[in-house]
Amino acid sequence: MSNYQLAIIGGGPAGYTAAEIAGKAGLSVVLFEKKSLGGVCLNEGCIPTKTLLYSAKTLDAARHAAKYAVKVGEAEADLPKIIARKQKVVRKLVLGIKGKLTNAGVTIVNGEAIVLDKNHIQCGEEQYECDNLLLCAGSETFIPPIPGVNEVPYWTHRDALDCKELPQSLVIVGGGVIGMEFASFFCSMGVKVTVIEMLDEILGGMDKELSAMLRTEYAKRGVQFLLNTKVIFLEGKENSVKVTYENAEGENVLEAEKVLLSVGRKPVTNGYGLENLNLKRTERGSIWVNNQLQTSGEGVYACGDLNGRSLLAHTAVREAEVAVHAILGKNDAMAYNAIPGVVYTNPEIAGVGATEESLKQQGIAYTVKQLPMAYSGRFVAENEGVNGVCKVLVGEDDTILGAHLLGNPASEIITLAGMAITLGLKAEEWKKMVFPHPTVGEIFKETV
Ligand SMILES: Cc1cc2nc3c(=O)[nH]c(=O)nc-3n(C[C@H](O)[C@H](O)[C@H](O)COP(=O)(O)OP(=O)(O)OC[C@H]3O[C@@H](n4cnc5c(N)ncnc54)[C@H](O)[C@@H]3O)c2cc1C
Repeated sequence: MSNYQLAIIGGGPAGYTAAEIAGKAGLSVVLFEKKSLGGVCLNEGCIPTKTLLYSAKTLDAARHAAKYAVKVGEAEADLPKIIARKQKVVRKLVLGIKGKLTNAGVTIVNGEAIVLDKNHIQCGEEQYECDNLLLCAGSETFIPPIPGVNEVPYWTHRDALDCKELPQSLVIVGGGVIGMEFASFFCSMGVKVTVIEMLDEILGGMDKELSAMLRTEYAKRGVQFLLNTKVIFLEGKENSVKVTYENAEGENVLEAEKVLLSVGRKPVTNGYGLENLNLKRTERGSIWVNNQLQTSGEGVYACGDLNGRSLLAHTAVREAEVAVHAILGKNDAMAYNAIPGVVYTNPEIAGVGATEESLKQQGIAYTVKQLPMAYSGRFVAENEGVNGVCKVLVGEDDTILGAHLLGNPASEIITLAGMAITLGLKAEEWKKMVFPHPTVGEIFKETV
């Protein structure tokens, strides 16, 4: 039986980051991955969606080239080639992860790991002994128990990412981040998209005002939104699905060629012996961890989607760093107050820190400082006829509490606000930083 100082289950962002850091720090590490290194993020999540969305953005840019006094012929998307490029990007990045882990001296085992106890893992015929165990098994799509769902050939994000032919029409159940990113992609591709959301606004958790603005923008492009609406029945066959829904106006039926379910994700906690560890769970069934990612079991850690704290790849990466530091006896802890959230629609929407809604709920006083993105010269130069908003929430003592952006490239510049919040900067201190000109990020300096 081989012995390792650290065994890691799952080779997604949490697992591969932890393996690389621990390996480089001199620990003997074994990492088990049953599918493909890179996990959901690289193989069927962050990267493939952004690859498809970039093709959609390029298509939109070509269609709107005349706004920038550039003549192009009729722009057209080639779906099979878009999907093939996505696969190429994924392959390249997965190979990159493999290379990094090999360089860090990590033993990679391809197969399903079964937890026997906190110091013993079974994979195939082999048993492995470990001093520390890091669980990074991730999450999976939650399929809502809508009557009829099992009789309908519904899509999950995986089917949408590999679709061979564009449907004429698509109903997306769930207007969260994943739902909206696919709405954006298929809308650009010319598909008639309807988004059904149970809540009163899309993108729950993001700034409500900006989410509503984004929704209005997509409605102008032809996406139909049904808010405060619950799907109560699904029926149909290949290429024709009937979606029965109810809302304040009563019951109604919508027909579409495809239906995509994107109502959320749940931690992977079954089928690999986790019950043998008898770990404390959260109310929602995730593995409970403290801010060093330690579970209730000594020497057992859980990072990434499995602990249910944030379900984002960048959180998983930071958690992995903290967990390995805890194993190495280094002082480090997670802070969850400045984790950026981004929706890669076009325009993008991003936020970090508190929202107005969360501050109101907690009874924290704040001031809203808000400007149109047009205050940034660079934004105006690159966004003909497009509006956007920068909103910064400032506390009574001038501390930056939250920041929210609608407009490109929100995903790139939100980190500036994330740093201000992490460092506990006051608005006056943040303003003293020198921002390069012209950049869209200067909008923060103008706003605060
Ligand atoms: C469509 C989509 C788009 C997304 N876009 C973004 C985005 O833009 N930005 C962002 O931050 N996040 C995004 N996410 C979320 C992101 O993918 C996850 O937060 C991230 O992958 C979590 O990383 P993880 O390491 O915890 O788990 P995962 O990436 O889920 O990896 C877990 C790995 O563990 C393996 N595994 C599980 N059990 C075992 C076992 N018993 N033995 C061996 N291996 C096992 C699995 O095969 C898997 O590879 C998206 C998700 C989806 C679905």
